Amino acid sequence: MIRLPCPARPACPRPVATEPAPASTAPCARPQSGWLRRRLCVALASLPLALGLAPAAAQTDRVVNLYSARHYQTDEVLYTRFTQLTGIRVNRIEASEDALLERLRSEGRNSPADVFLTVDAGRLWRAEQLGLFAPLRSPVLESRIPAQLRTPDGTWFGFSTRARVIAYNRAKVRPEEVATYEDLAHPRLKGRLCVRSSGHVYNLSLMASMIERLGEAGAEQWARGVVANLARPPRGGDTDQLRGVSAGECDVAISNTYYYVRLMKSTRPEDRQLVERVALSFPNQATTGTHVNVSGGGLLRTAPHPEAARLFLEYLASDEAQAYFAAGNNEWPVVAAAVSRNPELDSLGRFRMEKTAVSALGRLQPLAQKLLDRAGWK
Ligand code: FE
Repeated sequence: MIRLPCPARPACPRPVATEPAPASTAPCARPQSGWLRRRLCVALASLPLALGLAPAAAQTDRVVNLYSARHYQTDEVLYTRFTQLTGIRVNRIEASEDALLERLRSEGRNSPADVFLTVDAGRLWRAEQLGLFAPLRSPVLESRIPAQLRTPDGTWFGFSTRARVIAYNRAKVRPEEVATYEDLAHPRLKGRLCVRSSGHVYNLSLMASMIERLGEAGAEQWARGVVANLARPPRGGDTDQLRGVSAGECDVAISNTYYYVRLMKSTRPEDRQLVERVALSFPNQATTGTHVNVSGGGLLRTAPHPEAARLFLEYLASDEAQAYFAAGNNEWPVVAAAVSRNPELDSLGRFRMEKTAVSALGRLQPLAQKLLDRAGWK
C-alpha cells in the first residue's frame, strides 16, 4: 500500500445539514488539534481497503479514461492521488458538456472513454437519455452517497452539491422578504428581479424542483409571478445576475452558491464591493429546504476499463477525494464524513437541503421547459 503524506491543514466540518438549521454567516471553528489530523491519516491509510481494492482487481486495468466537463486545478491532485493509490493512470479529456456528448455519440461503441463527469442533474439526465451510462452496482457508492443524490439504479452519482439561492441587495431588501422561492413571485418585487434564461439547465432544474413541490399548476403560476417581477429580460450567467444586483440594475437575483464564493475569494475591488453589497438567502429553511443540485458522473456503457472506472468512481467518494472534488468548484462534499477545505464556503453556514431526489430533476426537465415557455420566461 502506498502511504500518502497527511494533509497539513485540517478543515472545517462539512456545512450541509439535512436537519433544520438557520443559515448563518458565522464562520465555523477550525480545529487545529491532533485528533482530526490523526483521523485523516487513518482514513487515508485505509483508503484502498475502503475502496475494495483487492490486489487482483487493482491489477486488471492500468488506465482509466475520463471525459470531464470539469476543469479545476484541484482535480489534478485527485488524479495524481488515485494513481498513487492504485497504480491506475488517469487519462482525461476536458471540454464543454456539449462537445463531450457529441464526441461520445460520434465515437459510439469504439469510444475509449470509461467515465463521464459533468455538472447538474439535468445534464446527467441528458447523458442518461442518450444511453451513455451503464448502471453500476457499488456497495461503496451506495453506502457513502445519500440516496437522494444519485439514481436508484446506479446510472450516475452526485459527488458534490451546490445550492441555487437568492441573492439580494443588503441595503434595499430585508432577508425576510426573500426567505422563500415563492417570495420571488411576490408583487413587492415587481421590476426588481434579475434572472438568466429559462433554457439554462440550472433554471430548468430549479423549475423541476418547484414542480415536485407545488405541482404543475402551482409551479407555472410561480413562474408567471417571477416573469412579472423582472427588472430586465433574462440574459447572462449567474455572475451577471449578481453583478446586476451590485450595480443597482435589480435588487434580487437567483444564483448558484459557488459563483458567489468565487467572488468572495476575488481580490478585485469591484468583486469585494459586490460581496459587501450583496447577501445570500438560503430559501425555504422553515419549510422544504433549499434547492440543491450536484456535480457528478457515472460509468459509460462502452467503457473499455470498467473495473478501473468503478475504482475511480469509488475513489471520488472517499473522504480525501471528496474534499478536493468539492473544493474544485467551491461546492460541498456529498459524503457526510468528508471535511470541507474551504473557509469562504464554510462561512456561508449550515442550511437545510430540500429532499427532492436529484434524479427527479432530470426527469422533469421537458415539463419544466414547457411550463417556463408558457409563463413567458425567455
Ligand atoms: Fe456553473
